[in-house]
Amino acid sequence: MITRDHSPADEGVRFLAEAGQALAASLDWEQTLVQVARLAVPALADWCIVDVLEEDGVTIKQVAVAAADPGKEILLREMRALYPPTIDSPQPAARTIRSGEPVLFEEFGSAELRATTRDVPHLELIRRLDPRSALAVPLVARARTIGAMTLAWSESGRRYTEPEIVLATELASRAALAVDNAILFSREREARAKAEEAVARLRDLEVISEAALTHLDLDLLLQELLDGVRTVMHADTAVCLLLDEPGDELVASWARGPEEEVEAGVRIPVGAGFAGRVAATRSPVFIPDVEKAELVNPLLMKRGLKSLLGVPLLVEGRLLGVMHVGSVTSRVFTNDDERTLQLLGDRIALAIEQSSLYESARAAGRRLEFLAEASELLGSTLDSAAALERLSDLAVPYLGDWCIVDMLRGDLLERVAVAHADPEAQAAAYEFLQRFPITPDAAHGPGLVIATGRAELISVVTDEHLQRASGGDPEYLEALRAIGMTSLLCAPLVARGRVLGTITMLSEQPERRYGPADLVTTEELARRAAAAVDNAMLYREAERRADAARVLEHIGDGVFMLDREGVVRLWNRAAESVTGLDADEVVGRLATEAIPGWAAIAGSVPVASTPATGSSAETLPLELPGREVWLSIAAVEFNEGTVYAFRDLTADRVLEELRSDFVSTVSHELRTPLAAIYGAALTLQREDLQLDQTLRGNLLSVISTESDRLARTVNDILWASRLDADRVQLDVGTHDARELARTVVEAAEVHLPAGIELSFSCENDLPPVLGDPDKVRQVLTNFVDNAIKYSPDGGVVELRIERLEHAVRFSVIDAGLGVPLSEQRRIFDKFYRVDPNLTRGVGGTGLGLYISRELVRRMNGTISVESREGGGSNFSFELPVATA
Ligand code: ADP
Repeated sequence: MITRDHSPADEGVRFLAEAGQALAASLDWEQTLVQVARLAVPALADWCIVDVLEEDGVTIKQVAVAAADPGKEILLREMRALYPPTIDSPQPAARTIRSGEPVLFEEFGSAELRATTRDVPHLELIRRLDPRSALAVPLVARARTIGAMTLAWSESGRRYTEPEIVLATELASRAALAVDNAILFSREREARAKAEEAVARLRDLEVISEAALTHLDLDLLLQELLDGVRTVMHADTAVCLLLDEPGDELVASWARGPEEEVEAGVRIPVGAGFAGRVAATRSPVFIPDVEKAELVNPLLMKRGLKSLLGVPLLVEGRLLGVMHVGSVTSRVFTNDDERTLQLLGDRIALAIEQSSLYESARAAGRRLEFLAEASELLGSTLDSAAALERLSDLAVPYLGDWCIVDMLRGDLLERVAVAHADPEAQAAAYEFLQRFPITPDAAHGPGLVIATGRAELISVVTDEHLQRASGGDPEYLEALRAIGMTSLLCAPLVARGRVLGTITMLSEQPERRYGPADLVTTEELARRAAAAVDNAMLYREAERRADAARVLEHIGDGVFMLDREGVVRLWNRAAESVTGLDADEVVGRLATEAIPGWAAIAGSVPVASTPATGSSAETLPLELPGREVWLSIAAVEFNEGTVYAFRDLTADRVLEELRSDFVSTVSHELRTPLAAIYGAALTLQREDLQLDQTLRGNLLSVISTESDRLARTVNDILWASRLDADRVQLDVGTHDARELARTVVEAAEVHLPAGIELSFSCENDLPPVLGDPDKVRQVLTNFVDNAIKYSPDGGVVELRIERLEHAVRFSVIDAGLGVPLSEQRRIFDKFYRVDPNLTRGVGGTGLGLYISRELVRRMNGTISVESREGGGSNFSFELPVATA
């Protein structure tokens, strides 16, 4: 039986009414959705999930879960973390968001389980959640799907019915509406906050710019304020005096009434007179009758003032100046008047202070700008004189009426730049000043600054200063007075601890007095100028050095430099090529370690103290690995070390040696046979001796062989000189190599010494060779003669002819003394002999192989040797095959 009270429709209406209330309770939309989930369980589900679609339209965020079973709620949270759905995933929430329609799984079986899960662990999770019937409904607000609500009947075993679907859809749409409202509200709130912030910022800006504007026009502000003071105080005049930078004088700065006072820039010493007393005592002063008071300012009297009241202008206990009001009629200023004026004074002091803070910030800004400009100018050129001139132009009038730059040249100060606001005055005064040199004993200015290295500041230049500076020279004093300086600043140009010069700023205006801030600026300017000048000097020096280095690199003499410690600092290209030692392996190391053989000769190198003394070079041998070079070397010492210059004399030296060797060899070679011939001839001539036939024959044979040897020596010398002069005619033709060699062998066999065996081998089918037959024979004869000569202990001498691809090789092989490997390259040189001193008793001119090489070369052949000391030699040459 269905009673009306319990009809599901009624329950539904009640539920929705409750829900509407609950949902309206919060304007936090996430909170609202948590509420929805709570409402759904247990009325509409055993567990429930609420998701929203993110702004990107893809990501789905689960914002609330609820379950009747607390264990399942934990599971739901876990799933929420591990498997957040996206717009295209299989979960029911994603499906309903995609379609915008409810999705119902009346019976949630295993097929549904698989269809709505992403993987096996997901499936397992859902299985544990155990949905039996499931329903997902979209959250739709203003025709937009903003999320989904997923409901499941589980342990209660129920199935979703049509009314429940309607109810769920209804709940979802209310929830969506609530969320939409909440979002709209929060957006509106955000927008309002932004707008408010913007308004606030605008207000701040206004306040700031207002203040800035006020600051910008302090003059106007003060005039207005002083007018106000006059009105409030019923006074005829109101004047404001400011303390100057050194703090010992008051300067009339603003005035209403006696404006002249300001125009005249009246200065009143602190402590003197009326205003001076206010400043000194820092308390109000009332003067009932001006005429009866000691007043310093005649203007006040002239103005016809009778009574005066003055108050100090103080900010945080600091005195800025004095303000006073005056009346042309006799008047008694009451205590009230005094208090009011002090109050007004405080306001005005604050305004001035703020403005002067602003002013000093602006001044600092201008200073920085000026310094930056100066730096740029100084950095733009390496011509320091021009830069300094432009710098002085820049400094006037910003820093003063005059800017003078003096630079030290040796001990003298030279004026390099002068700038003045008025170019004509500049020229005249400059000329005048030029007549008086700046001396280091000057009492003030550049001379003094150079001497002390410290800046000088004379805030107020007096005539005594000028007198002292003139050093008693009346003309100089006149020149100094003519400049009309009122304030002076002089800073040294210091770079790397050295004083390079000075920069002097002069003011001609009484109101412009240099103070500590100007000093700092000028010192900074001087520092930058000094750095620029120093840079330019360094650059020029570097250039000069680079030029010198370039020259050194390209001169033919070897040049190197050792520092005081004997470390190589420079090693030029010629030094590299003479010694074969690269600069890389030498520079930076001790010469005695880096240059082989240096230690042995270093002490013998003549060292001069100046290049001019020109010590004559010494010729010394430097023992390098594997060879010796002869150097003509000299050195000059200077304060950083010693520079050595050398020339390679090895070639000259070798030639020299060869020549002297040759003279001794040739004279020996000529004298020996001559002595033999002479001896034999004398013997033959003797009448007292009865010579038998054999002895006579022997003597005659001595004469003939020795003559032959003599002729050959002379011949060799002739050939060598002909080759030198290129006067050798060759008659190149096609010849039979075997035939050529055979004649040589036959000739040799005629006077073969005992113990020597001559063999001849020749390949068959030799092609003809190209050559001059006489010259081929000459070379072969020389080879065979040498082979015999350098086999003093006898042995086989073989003449062999072989065929090569395009040539025929003639070799003469012996088993004699051999040639050491190190000598093999040079034995073909003119006059070169391995054993010039004949220690092995074998004589020669050293010309044979030279002639052979030259002849073979002229026949387009090649000559070579293979030999081992004590192991015999193989001298060979190849001649090209004659082509048909
Ligand atoms: P020389 O008149 O001294 O023999 P060469 O020019 O013919 O002049 O030879 C140069 C040097 O070569 C010789 O002094 C000798 O030391 C070396 N030499 C030449 N031929 C031979 C050889 N067959 N065996 C050993 N040394 C040789």
